[in-house]
Parts: sequence; C-alpha cells; structure tokens
Amino acid sequence: MDIKALIRDIPDFPQPGILFRDITTLLQDAAGFKATIDALVEKTTYLKPDYIVGMESRGFLFGTPMAYQMNAGFVPVRKPGKLPHATYSVEYVLEYGTDRLEIHQDAFPAGARVLVVDDVIATGGTAAATAELISKCGAELVGFAFLSELTFLDGRKKLPNVPIVTLIEY
Ligand code: AMP
Repeated sequence: MDIKALIRDIPDFPQPGILFRDITTLLQDAAGFKATIDALVEKTTYLKPDYIVGMESRGFLFGTPMAYQMNAGFVPVRKPGKLPHATYSVEYVLEYGTDRLEIHQDAFPAGARVLVVDDVIATGGTAAATAELISKCGAELVGFAFLSELTFLDGRKKLPNVPIVTLIEY
C-alpha cells in the first residue's frame, strides 16, 4: 500500500512557501486509512502504551483509532481554553510568535505509559510541548508516532530520547 500517494500536496497553504501535506485524501480512502492505522499500531505495540495522546486536531484522527485497536485510553492535547477541567499548560515558540497547548491535570494515573501521536512532525515544537505536558502530569513518555516527518526541519532533535516511529519521510 502506497500511503504517501494518498496524501495530497497543497502549495502555499496556509501561507506562501508552505507545502501543506493534506491527509483528508488519505482519510477518504478506506483501504489506505486502515493500512495507515494498522502500520502505526504494528510499529508501536512493543512500546506497550496505556494511553495514546493526540494533539488537536489531526492527532485525534490517527490517535483515537490506534487507542481503540491497542486497548489503550486516549487523551487529547488541546489549544487554550477548550478543555473544561483543571489543566496544565505549556507555551512554545512558533516561527512567528508563540502558542500554547493544554492537557487535563488528571489525564493519567501515576506511572502511566504514554505514546504521542500526530500526523506530521515539522519543527518538532508541538511534539516537544506535548512531551512537557506529559511530564507535568507525572506520566511516562514511551515514544512518538507520526504519519510523516519533514526530515529537512530536523524536528526530532527537539524531542526527548525515546523511540520515534514514522511511516513517511519528506
Ligand atoms: P511542528 O512544526 O512540528 O510543531 O508542527 C506543527 C503542527 O503543524 C503539527 O501538528 C503538524 O500537524 C502541522 N504541520 C506542520 N507542517 C505541516 C505541513 N507541511 N503539512 C501539514 N501539516 C503540517
């Protein structure tokens, strides 16, 4: 299954100079979507996560079916002001300015094993901030899984030293 062929490239979105990797065409393809989730699950099962953490919003699309298949819980990391209960918050640097991500303080029991899932790792800022949130919660980060990696940005150098699984490289 050529998963890469199901991802659509959109030049200059959301701003000039960005080549956006559009996964809606992959989600539309029943066989392609299933193959993607199966491959992500197969490559991360050995990490034995108790929870999958997905980042708003495309991390939800890949993280929740993985959690279902792996008998793990799912925990969302969201943009500011979306989570209704007490949160931890981490600010991180974007190309222009800063942004913030939040997680529920009571998302995990002590010592839970956590796998972080998102569609793309670009600069690594989002994933690094998520790792910080998991650490604030007192849980154990056991790895990252990304559908694709923009290798020229070397985002993985921002991440803690745990296994990083990717299916596609650009
Ligand atoms: P990062 O720079 O690694 O923090 O990426 C920020 C977020 O933007 C991630 O959740 C990615 O899903 C998304 N993203 C970054 N670059 C792209 C791209 N070229 N195409 C699609 N999504 C992207």
